[in-house]
Amino acid sequence: MDVATKTKTHEILDKYDLLAKKSFGQNFLIDNNIVRNIVKEAQVDKDTCVIEIGPGIGGLTYELAKHAKKVVAIEIDNRMKPVLEDTLSEYDNVDIVFDDFLKIDLVSLVNEHFDKDDQIVVVANLPYYITTAILIKLFEHQSQINLIRISAMMQREVGLRLSAKKDTKDYNSLTILTQYYSKPKLAIKVPKSVFIPAPKVDSVVVSFELIKDQEKPVNEKLFFTLLRLLFKQRRKTILNNLNEYYHDKEKTTKVLNALELDTKLRAENLTLDDIIEMANYIDREES
Ligand code: SAH
Repeated sequence: MDVATKTKTHEILDKYDLLAKKSFGQNFLIDNNIVRNIVKEAQVDKDTCVIEIGPGIGGLTYELAKHAKKVVAIEIDNRMKPVLEDTLSEYDNVDIVFDDFLKIDLVSLVNEHFDKDDQIVVVANLPYYITTAILIKLFEHQSQINLIRISAMMQREVGLRLSAKKDTKDYNSLTILTQYYSKPKLAIKVPKSVFIPAPKVDSVVVSFELIKDQEKPVNEKLFFTLLRLLFKQRRKTILNNLNEYYHDKEKTTKVLNALELDTKLRAENLTLDDIIEMANYIDREES
């Protein structure tokens, strides 16, 4: 029976005498239409191997298990052990690992639970207090674990930033980092009323198609440094922000001129490619 309904969720919380833990970002989904939409959006079918972060009482996990080849779910809260055994008892294609996702060795996890050539999709209603840390961990490991897609519920504001367009106020260094690794798409809008307890903010589901052969800067570390620097004070011009690198306005102006970038631009006016080119130019100059 579907887990992500209001009645069933109350029944489970009562039966196991559970109170949602704020410190773990616990907001359980109680609308199975939304759950079905998430699974559909993530394109989960009988060939799909899924990693879920934070199964909670199993609302999304139940629907994933129904459609996927295999689901591995990582949950930090040990109280969910008997609950998940109960709610997922119909399925034998689910492994639950009780651990902190941010501490787990992803490569070993995948080697242990999936076959060598399996493609992985991450589907999750994320714990909101660590959304970006989780996404960055996934982005950085994408090629090592053969990750092809992430469909993740997050707070609306964060989703808007990650999928923002150039020249808008939501566009920031995290937007560009996201574009560096993936093609993000705002997929589903979710009101706060579909969770118990209801969070303070509305949510969205964002899908990230990971880029396999991305164009990489020659010096990736320098690229990350510049990305951070350029957005350090977003209202300042790129001339002023990049000057934090050179501490020499004349030199900084020269570099921007060589790249044909107006010194009066702000970082929000730059594309990912602009910053990759900048990193490559500076790297060439310095070597
Ligand atoms: N998927 C469930 C619950 C989502 S709430 C549903 O949609 O109803 C977020 C879940 O993430 C909670 O179960 C919480 O305990 C878990 N969680 C929080 N921090 C975590 C971490 N560091 N690693 C793994 N799981 C975590």
